[in-house]
Amino acid sequence: MTTLDPLRLTARDAKRLLVDGEISAAELTKVFLDQIAAVEDKVKAFILVTADNAAKYSTKVDREMQAMRGPLAGLPIAVKDNLVTEGVTTTCASRMLHNYQPVYTATAVRQVWDGHVVMLGKTNLDEFAMGSSTEYSAYQVTANPWDLDTVPGGSSGGSAAAVAAGEALWALGSDTGGSVRQPASLCGVVGMKPTYGAVSRYGLVAFASSLDQIGPLTRSVYDCALLLQHITGRDPRDATSVELPEPVVLPSAERLDGLRIGVPSEYLDVGLEDGVRARFDETLARIEELGGRCVEVSLPHTEYALPAFYVIAPAEASANLARFDGVRYGYRCSDPVDLTDLYERTRSEGFGPEVKRRIMIGTYALSAGYYDAYYGRAQRVRSLVCRDFDHAFSQVDLIASPTSPTVAFTAGSRTSDPLAMYMSDVCTIPANLAGLPAISIPCGLSGGLPVGFQLIGPAFSENRVLAAAHALEGAIGFDTAPPFRGSRSSSGERDRGSADTTPRPEDTHP
Ligand code: GLN
Repeated sequence: MTTLDPLRLTARDAKRLLVDGEISAAELTKVFLDQIAAVEDKVKAFILVTADNAAKYSTKVDREMQAMRGPLAGLPIAVKDNLVTEGVTTTCASRMLHNYQPVYTATAVRQVWDGHVVMLGKTNLDEFAMGSSTEYSAYQVTANPWDLDTVPGGSSGGSAAAVAAGEALWALGSDTGGSVRQPASLCGVVGMKPTYGAVSRYGLVAFASSLDQIGPLTRSVYDCALLLQHITGRDPRDATSVELPEPVVLPSAERLDGLRIGVPSEYLDVGLEDGVRARFDETLARIEELGGRCVEVSLPHTEYALPAFYVIAPAEASANLARFDGVRYGYRCSDPVDLTDLYERTRSEGFGPEVKRRIMIGTYALSAGYYDAYYGRAQRVRSLVCRDFDHAFSQVDLIASPTSPTVAFTAGSRTSDPLAMYMSDVCTIPANLAGLPAISIPCGLSGGLPVGFQLIGPAFSENRVLAAAHALEGAIGFDTAPPFRGSRSSSGERDRGSADTTPRPEDTHP
């Protein structure tokens, strides 16, 4: 068997080795399970590792090669733990769901399972996907493999760290305000939020329904397109899902001839770190070298996007999270004296502080007398943000910005300052408000930590975004292998409660 480097292997190369018979799916899966055994202690990317199932299922893929083939067959994947998986505990990194066994599977997960991927486990996140550092998980704090003392970003920090640490070939995450792109940026991997509606949200535990999208985290743009190909499409179970006007194409472009890239001045005015600004400017220079043309554009309402998001997202979250009441499923407090006591204690004990903060803000913003002043006004701002993009896209093909104003920050440095944490997504949130596709690719290092470069396209321009990102990635030549420097002082482990880690039965599960 060829020796494989889990820190650099792409899904594309792994597939070639499988098809050529150089390795088996079982051997490939073992490479990742071995890496999990070697580094997970430090990284803590997974809430649940389904090692036995992964080993069994990969053997099955080898054995039934004739029936179980296709572009994804035998390729190991990690799944964010807010995507429900039948028979596999799904916690949303919340005490509220610490033992929740879903009775169905999210469509996006079902689609990759049907393609015979091998699921390695469920990854850590900020509780209910609310956060930018994965520190708001009720279970554990994930470390960034580039520097273990820093955060992996969030909320899909577990998925991003798993891919960066070579614990998975690729992963699924969700992005409501930047939760795929920002952790991808901080961990030096590729992350994409598709156009709103391009991927079914059925089975994604809802945070803010008008913003949520599922997206891939991968080690290359090609892999991102490959995974996206299999999760897009109309799903009768999600009324907001649509068929893409043209199917996702695997990118091959090496040049950017004739492409007009808009650089919004407002995005450069958000307190970018010097190193981030330097890598961004260098990447713009590469665009020009590849035949593209960078022009300044203006998105004048950018400064209002973040405040509007922090009204709309909590408002929708407060409604979505009303279902966790201790009656239907999930956590229930012990010995309630009456119904009010049941609701109050279940929700006080089940939710963590950041989730409670969002519920309180959202409930307030939606309350009678305030609805129009807050939610209504935020929605009007949202329309202005959309209009800004429409106007910019009448002049340019794509918009470029840094993904995050900073590189990975030290664990604990923003947890007591919610506004500083919220600022992490200042460059990613507008694309969610406008429902646009956006990708983050690594564009170099600053102080030894990855910097992300974001490309945003008009709605349904996935192929344009992917083609440009692919060409740029080739010119940048980023090395995805992190050094695992630093030493996390505390183990990062929180009370895992009695989370039942029973994996789903082998016959129904990859
Ligand atoms: N960081 C943002 C928040 O906390 C966005 C999170 C996300 O995209 N899920 O709301």
